[in-house]
Amino acid sequence: MVEIKLTNTMTRKKAIFRPIDPSNVRIYVCGPTVYDRAHLGNARPVVVFDVLNRLLRHVYGNDHVTYVRNFTDVDDKINARAARDGRSIREITDETIGWYHDDMDALGNLRPDHEPRATDFIPQMVAMIAGLIEAGHAYAAEGHVLFAVESYAEYGRLSGRSIDDMIAGARVEVAPYKRNPMDFVLWKPSSADLPGWDSPWGRGRPGWHIECSAMAQELLGDHFDIHGGGNDLMFPHHENEIAQSCCAHPGAGFANVWLHNEMLQVEGKKMSKSLGNFFTVRDLLDQGVPGEVIRFVFLGTHYRKPMDWTDGKRQEAEATLLNWRSLVARLGESATKEILSDSQTDDEVVAALADDLNSAGAITALHRLARRVRGGDVEAAKKLAGSCAMLGLDLNADQVIERLVAQIQMGRTRISIQQDHAPLIGRLLELRAEARAKKDFETADRIRDAFVAAGVEVVDTKEGPMWTLKADFDPTRLEGLK
Ligand code: AMP
Ligand code: ZN
Repeated sequence: MVEIKLTNTMTRKKAIFRPIDPSNVRIYVCGPTVYDRAHLGNARPVVVFDVLNRLLRHVYGNDHVTYVRNFTDVDDKINARAARDGRSIREITDETIGWYHDDMDALGNLRPDHEPRATDFIPQMVAMIAGLIEAGHAYAAEGHVLFAVESYAEYGRLSGRSIDDMIAGARVEVAPYKRNPMDFVLWKPSSADLPGWDSPWGRGRPGWHIECSAMAQELLGDHFDIHGGGNDLMFPHHENEIAQSCCAHPGAGFANVWLHNEMLQVEGKKMSKSLGNFFTVRDLLDQGVPGEVIRFVFLGTHYRKPMDWTDGKRQEAEATLLNWRSLVARLGESATKEILSDSQTDDEVVAALADDLNSAGAITALHRLARRVRGGDVEAAKKLAGSCAMLGLDLNADQVIERLVAQIQMGRTRISIQQDHAPLIGRLLELRAEARAKKDFETADRIRDAFVAAGVEVVDTKEGPMWTLKADFDPTRLEGLK
């Protein structure tokens, strides 16, 4: 069996992953707060943990992994959005969850086995809070319930900070009802205009952290394998989850391995609205960037390193995927069918992923396979297709190759269209290159615009421009350019 190694934030070491129960490997990942479209950074943990989920399924079997990712659907940001737009909270959270599914599906992510909504688990949260009060780890004060951090000696172990450091470093909310400024809210009162549930401490709503402890317990038990999220969640969110769960279930252990992805940046800068470099996954998809291209760019950086989104990387990813696809298609119809029915995963790709999810190393192995496919190696093509499928890339045997086979079978129409128009498109690309060389950007832009209008997709690669015809290809739009 393939041995997986993971870097555990808790121990700060890379170690062999040993599941508690190999017949049911259990993962919990913190999901989004649903009040707005996911920005590009939000998609990073989704892709990272999707790759982990796929790797675990590959190693332990498809039916032997349980992957949970929650939706935070009770939060003050959601309340504020509902008040601003004059809409109901449920309407906003339902709509946002729908967008999230559309956008994350478009990036080739599998849906988790469970996607619990916090508001469906309020009784479990209330029960957990009541247990924490009873055990002396929490106290009620002025309609609030607070977790007493001093009651848990290991508080701060995940992020490696002492309580004093945390007080000094963090912007903690000082409130008269807190015994220690680091104590955090488990339950807070709701005024009549805010969502609230009856509880032993009056009508109120949960603090943020308790939901993950309650949902993980309900769906995965009090001891499970892996807990993941962005590294911005390490403190205070994950620290607080550990304190709540370990105090509610002493000796159980909560999560064995903690995995944290680094943040995404844009062209070397933090993504932020004020810098004007803030965009959503949907913005990119609407601009025509295919989801698999976004995914491919993400896979190019190890999850524990900051990842920089650049337009150059986007172009390169687009060219690589186009190139791999055409390499497979060039092997011919019968080979393509064989690849479709017998795709395989490559050992080097799996070994790279098993080494702390080294997706960048996996891509290097895919490039090696692609070079063999260029030499006509059908076996390498089977591995390229199968390994891409395992990584969730839309080059896979089931989808893209099937599509290619279908295209070939459709009376070779698209192939012949491509052949019929190749001389014209080639000539126009030459004219564009000459115009660019002469700095005649007007002509170069006119040709580019005509390509867009005609449905010719052109990607500039190191080996020169590569092109494909979109379904709405209209050659009449190229007339008059010669
Ligand atoms: P939120 O909805 O803000 O709680 O974030 C949802 C997920 O996105 C969390 O796992 C965050 O850690 C993650 N996240 C937020 N911003 C970024 C970013 N710039 N890069 C990577 N992950 C991020
Ligand atoms: Zn969480």
